Amino acid sequence: MKRYLLSGLCALALLSCQKQEEQNDFKYNVDKFYDLEILRYQVTGFEQLSLQEKELIYYLSEAALQGRDILYDQNGRYNLRIRRTLEKLYLNYPYEKNDENYILLEKYLKRVWFSNGIHHHYSEDKFLPEFSMQWFKQALADAEVEYDEAILPVMFDPTVMPKRTTAENGVDLVLNSAGNYYGEGVTQAEAEAWYEKHKDSSAQPKWIGLNSQLVKNENGEIEERVYKVDGLYGSALEKVVYWLEKALEVAETPEQKLAIEKMIEFNKTGDLETFNQYCIAWVKDINSRVDYINGFTETYSDPLGITGAWESMVNFKDIEATKRTQAIADNASWFEQHSPTDPQYKKDEVKGVSAKVITAAILAGDCYPATPIGINLPNANWIRKEYGSKSVSIDNLMIAYDEAAKGNGFAEEFIIDEDMIALTELYGAKCDFLHTDLHECAGHGSGKLMPGVTKDALKEHASTIEETRADLFGLYFLADEKLVELGLLPDMEAYKAGYYHQMMNGLMTQLVRIEEGKDIEEAHMRNRQLIARWVYDHAAQKEVELIERDGKHYLKINDYEGLRKLYGELLKEIQRITSEGDYLAAKNLVETYAVKVDPALHKEVRERYAKLNIAPYKGFVNPVYSVQKDGLGHITDVKVSYTEGYIQQHLRYSRDYSNLPDVN
Ligand code: ZN
Repeated sequence: MKRYLLSGLCALALLSCQKQEEQNDFKYNVDKFYDLEILRYQVTGFEQLSLQEKELIYYLSEAALQGRDILYDQNGRYNLRIRRTLEKLYLNYPYEKNDENYILLEKYLKRVWFSNGIHHHYSEDKFLPEFSMQWFKQALADAEVEYDEAILPVMFDPTVMPKRTTAENGVDLVLNSAGNYYGEGVTQAEAEAWYEKHKDSSAQPKWIGLNSQLVKNENGEIEERVYKVDGLYGSALEKVVYWLEKALEVAETPEQKLAIEKMIEFNKTGDLETFNQYCIAWVKDINSRVDYINGFTETYSDPLGITGAWESMVNFKDIEATKRTQAIADNASWFEQHSPTDPQYKKDEVKGVSAKVITAAILAGDCYPATPIGINLPNANWIRKEYGSKSVSIDNLMIAYDEAAKGNGFAEEFIIDEDMIALTELYGAKCDFLHTDLHECAGHGSGKLMPGVTKDALKEHASTIEETRADLFGLYFLADEKLVELGLLPDMEAYKAGYYHQMMNGLMTQLVRIEEGKDIEEAHMRNRQLIARWVYDHAAQKEVELIERDGKHYLKINDYEGLRKLYGELLKEIQRITSEGDYLAAKNLVETYAVKVDPALHKEVRERYAKLNIAPYKGFVNPVYSVQKDGLGHITDVKVSYTEGYIQQHLRYSRDYSNLPDVN
C-alpha cells in the first residue's frame, strides 16, 4: 500500500519545515511542463553514514535503476519502442533545434518519461503528441531513424489504447486496458478463470500471478510467462541480481542478508514461496539502517489487481525523526484512554504501529518520477497478520514538496491574514507530519468493534468512515498538551496551524481537484470534507466561519478550543458508528457532508487557484551517486551530487540502463 501526496496541495503546500537550519542554496524546483512539475530532493544525512552503509545504498541504487525498462513494458507493450524512437529523434534532430516541433517533441518525450509510457500516470488516459504524424514520419526519415510503424497509431490515434488501466463498469477490464499484464487477445473471463484454477487456498497462500504475464498460446490456451532471470524481463532482472549480490556483501545484519538472499533467489526462480520467505525476512529486518523495496510490488496498475508493477526505493532511517513516530506508537494506549469516545468502544490496550521515518536515496520504477510519501508493506494479509508490516513516512520528499511550494502564492491567496500565514510557515509542516503520524500510528489501530459487528458493516462507506475516524483522532490529539509534554510540539500555539489547514482544505482548497459539476468520490477527500462541513454546520458559537472579502471567501477560526470540542464530538459519533456497524448513520453522514460540493464556492476556489498556475502533479529527479576508489580498486567513499537535470537524467538512464529488447 502506498500513501500519496494528493496533488501539489497537501498540507504542506504552504509551509516551511523543521530543517530550516539546514537550508542552503539547494534548488528544489527543476522543471515544469503540462500539469507536471519536477523537483529535486536532498538526501539529508547521507554524508554522515558509514562507508558500509553508503556502499550498500550505492549497490541497491544500481539494482533499482537496472529495472527501469520493466515498468515501461508493463505499462504498455509499445512503450519501449516509442520511448527509444523519440529519444533517437531527439538526439539526432535533423532540423534547427529551436523550431516549434522540436519544442513539442521535447515536451512529449518529457511526458513519456514522467509516465513511464504514453498514459497519464494519474488519470491513466493516453496523451497525444502535439506534433503531427506526418511531421514525425518525415523527421524520422530525415534523421535516418529506423522505427516500427506499429507505434504510429498507438501514439497518434486517440481510439487506440486510450486507457492504461480501466475500471469502467460493465466492460472487459483486461481487453480495455492498455497495460501489458495480459497478452494480446486475453479476455477478463479467461484471466479470471486461470487465476481461479491456480488459486492457492492454503493458510499461507502464495500470491499467484504476482510476477507474471498471462498470454494466449497458438492453441488459444492461457499460459503464464513468469518474470525471472530466465523468463520474461530476464535481461533486466539479471542486472538487478548482479547488484543485489554486491549489496549482499555489505549487508548490515543477518536479517537483512537473508532478505536480500531471498530476493535474489526469487528473481532467479520466480518462485512465489520464496517471495513469501523474502517478505517475512524483510519484515523482520528492523535493525538495519538502510532499507529498500525492489521488485514487483503494488498491484493497482493491473486491471484485476493481481500482478505487481516493478518498483524500487532505497532509503535509510532518519533516526531523529523516527523518535517522533516511536513516541506516538509508545503512547497509543494513553491516547486511546483519553480519546473522547465512549468507554465501551475503547480497546483496553492499543498496540501502536511504529512507522519509521526514512530518507529516500533513490527512486525507481513505479516510484519514479512520481512517488508515494508513505509506504506500508508487505501486501499479503496473512504475512501482515502473522509477522507485521513496515510502515514508513518519507520525510525528505515531503520537505522537498514543501520547500518547492514556497512562494507559489497559494498561502497568500487562501489564508486569511499575515499572522496565520506566519504561523503556518512556522508550524504547518510540523503539524502535518504529526497529524499523519497520529492518524497512521495510533488512529487506525484505536477503538474496537462490538461483538458480531464486522469490518465491512459500513459497506461502500467503510473506507470514508475509517479515514474520518483516523483523521479526527489525529486532529483531536494534535491540540493535546501531551504532544508538548512529549516534546513533539513546542507550545500550545503550534497546533493552530494544523487546525487552520484542515478546515481550509476540507471546506475550500481541496475542491480545486474536483472538476466543476462533479461530486467528491475519493475516500480521503470525502473524509476531509465530511469533517470540515460537519464542524462548520455545528459551529453554533461561530467557532469557525467563512468570511467574504472583495468577493473572496476565507476561513476564520474564532475559537480553537471550541473547534477541538467539535472534532471530539464528531469522533465520538464516528467511533460509535464504527463500533456498532451503524450503516444508516454512516450513509447519512457521508451523503450529507462528504459528497456534494457548494457550486459557487467551488467555482470561486478553482478560479483563484487557476490564476496561481501551480502544477497539480509532482515528480522528482534522483541524485547521482559516484564511487571513489583507491589504487587497489577498493571503494573509499560514495559521493552524492545534485546537479543532473531532468532531461539529462532520463537520457543517461536510457543509455546506461536499457536492459530490455523492444518487444518482450
Ligand atoms: Zn488512513
